[in-house]
Amino acid sequence: MIDFDKVRAEFPILDQQVHGRPLVYLDSAATAQKPQCVIDAESEFYRTINAGVHRGAHELAARSTMAFEDARAKVARLVGANAKEGEEEVVVTSGATAGLNLLATAFGNASLGRGGAEAARFALKPGDEIVVSKAEHHSVLLPFQELAARTGATFKWLDLDDEGRVRVDEAREVITERTKVVAVTHVANVTGAITDIAPLVSRAHEVGAVFVLDACQSVPHLAVDFHALDVDFAAWSAHKMYGPTGVGFLYGKRELLEALPPANFGGSMVELAWMDQPAQYMVPPARFEAGTQPVAQVVAAGVAADWMMNIGLENIEAHERQIAAELLKIGDIDGVRVLGPRENVGRIGTVAFDVAGVHPHDVGQFIDAQGIAIRVGHHCAQPVHRHFGIYASNRASSGVYNSVEDARALVEALGKVRAFFG
Ligand code: PLP
Repeated sequence: MIDFDKVRAEFPILDQQVHGRPLVYLDSAATAQKPQCVIDAESEFYRTINAGVHRGAHELAARSTMAFEDARAKVARLVGANAKEGEEEVVVTSGATAGLNLLATAFGNASLGRGGAEAARFALKPGDEIVVSKAEHHSVLLPFQELAARTGATFKWLDLDDEGRVRVDEAREVITERTKVVAVTHVANVTGAITDIAPLVSRAHEVGAVFVLDACQSVPHLAVDFHALDVDFAAWSAHKMYGPTGVGFLYGKRELLEALPPANFGGSMVELAWMDQPAQYMVPPARFEAGTQPVAQVVAAGVAADWMMNIGLENIEAHERQIAAELLKIGDIDGVRVLGPRENVGRIGTVAFDVAGVHPHDVGQFIDAQGIAIRVGHHCAQPVHRHFGIYASNRASSGVYNSVEDARALVEALGKVRAFFG
């Protein structure tokens, strides 16, 4: 049995008062707080082994390279990816947004004929299709919409049902023989709904399309295994999984990473560079890691991955399910509508809601005055809000450090909002 009170005590930031009340942090979908071991890992790196990785001939460079690659292996283990030297499937990025843009740019480069015959499988031309869902964060929506505009491909999407779940039943109709890329979120950042991706992945593969998963909101909360899910690529951010900001990861099946042309160019990704001949690029993951990487942050992200695996992803999932059950009581409050599944099934502890007649910013401020942090706005997902007929909402989202009492405090405070604003 995991003692989640002890887990919470590992987060120094939570031990403070806000507006004279103990802080209740329910905004982990935006960014998660960091346990002491992650905070320490970053400063320990700078205190003891800071050096450029992969190049130096000196001892510190060797140690920092080892720490960097060791962190990559830990993160790979968290998501069921290969980590053996020469078979790495995890690329370091500066965040999920960067990883998704890297992919879209690389597909665009393949469409220009870059990367040779091997990369042709990623090439898009007019008449081809890119499919997303209406649940996407703008970090999926926009890079792939831009890719469609650059290549002349048709941009299509899977709709949402009344609860905001991706209409997986539309897979056969929307994903066609002309579809080359399908990019869908694993867990929606507004509704908290888990997408049933299996039928989408198999349909994408049936028509020869690559499947890109946005794993930002699943990796921090669920046991995720990219091999078992059979996705081709997946992107996520370290800062939402208790790691530092400025770091993210892009998973790719090894054979696909080997075929994918680079997207960013510069130091550390090239084998041979000439003035008068095309450069010869390194094999993955180095090919995609141009320039100096955020080494200290990657090392700390590895510590975060280990820390999560030590608690156990099944334990994290079960703990947060209890919090989700309590948060869903928001929907029982008069005049409050939950934007997403009302049942505590196939979802995580991210609950967005709309309070009739009260602007989300007013709700957020009222709740903040009680020391409770929630999110307000469109959460970088405007089409989802349009689907629900609104522009913005409030969102409470759990982390491993939350308790059922935290959720109760929010539900109690929300019960007073409409009376306060008359
Ligand atoms: N995708 C989803 C579902 C998200 O929730 C987020 C962050 O809010 C992103 C992508 C983008 O992540 P980042 O801003 O860390 O690049």
